[in-house]
Amino acid sequence: MKQLSRDDFEDLLLPHSHTTRTPETVVFELTYGCNLRCVHCSNPTHKALPNELTTAEILNLLDQSVDLGVLTVTFTGGELLTRPDVFDIFTHAALQGLLLEMISNATRVTPRVPAACAPSVQNICFSIYGATESTYEQVTNNHIRLVISSTDWRLLPSMVSLCPPYACQ
Ligand code: SF4
Repeated sequence: MKQLSRDDFEDLLLPHSHTTRTPETVVFELTYGCNLRCVHCSNPTHKALPNELTTAEILNLLDQSVDLGVLTVTFTGGELLTRPDVFDIFTHAALQGLLLEMISNATRVTPRVPAACAPSVQNICFSIYGATESTYEQVTNNHIRLVISSTDWRLLPSMVSLCPPYACQ
């Protein structure tokens, strides 16, 4: 079987999508919930609202997107990793044949996240809101933090060694 790179595959399909006016890509904002408060942000609440789409509703919309001929879905938020069902959503989308991208602020990335994303997400985009601790905190109204979980606490010394000159908390 001939294998194409993602770019070549899209180059073959996109002219057809443009001709037939088929939607080729979807940007899916999964939640308003976000743990940062960036100065440039247009998010009206930063909190997940009680009437946000359920898992079943999201999976249904993904199925409808496939039926319409959508090829790629970019998942974002808010911060999409605040949703506990995000990996179930990725898995379902990938099983429908969709190519997945995600945009995250990177603050909730633990060692589990790359492993959970690897089977289904092709592109991951992290927004890094400053090149220094000072600018990052000015933009996000938050501190740079290390997230330590029960699975990675033994790695704390090596994680701390990555931090200087940033004063991670
Ligand atoms: S990470 Fe994104 S959603 Fe969250 S506050 Fe910043 S710009 Fe807004």
